[in-house]
Amino acid sequence: MKEGNKGLEIDSKSKELIKKWQQQADSLKKKHPKWNAAKIQKEMKKRIIQDAEAAFSTKSGKAYIEEVNAHLKEVEDARNRAIDGIMAYMGKTSPEAIATVLFELDCGCIRACAVSKKGKPMGEMIMVSGKQVEKDYECSICRDDGGADSKRCVRKAIIWPGEESELPSDEFRLDIGKKVFGDDYSLDDI
Ligand SMILES: [Zn+2]
Repeated sequence: MKEGNKGLEIDSKSKELIKKWQQQADSLKKKHPKWNAAKIQKEMKKRIIQDAEAAFSTKSGKAYIEEVNAHLKEVEDARNRAIDGIMAYMGKTSPEAIATVLFELDCGCIRACAVSKKGKPMGEMIMVSGKQVEKDYECSICRDDGGADSKRCVRKAIIWPGEESELPSDEFRLDIGKKVFGDDYSLDDI
């Protein structure tokens, strides 16, 4: 019930704003009969941005931003913990691997595989949840498709073990990246 009220409140506020902007656009058109649609749109964009900035500087706007930031940080922390766990696991099970390939899925899970010096997959493909989860948690989306649907992959990356100073050269990383992901892999992906 509480959630429903909250949703309704935001919705009516948005409606009010849209109505206000429509009225402003109408009055601009009356005041400046020579302005075309693009010119009115440009002026309205300025006003809409001003309204948004004013809304975000209010107490509830700030609380909203803080909530969003806290959520994003939580997601990032969970991802970093998952990657740390994957790298520790790979270090134990495939100590001779030079790197680990990650396939991050839209559900928050990560598939990972160790890579050999020749850029070939080695060992098993493992699956880790990137979400903060309960014990015994199982991702229902991955349970159904095995996490193998390439359309659900939102990010691919190669993680190199060790400190930044231990990183292999750009050329070597580029070469391995091309072997793993194909010729589209570029220096920007490193
Ligand atoms: Zn999943």
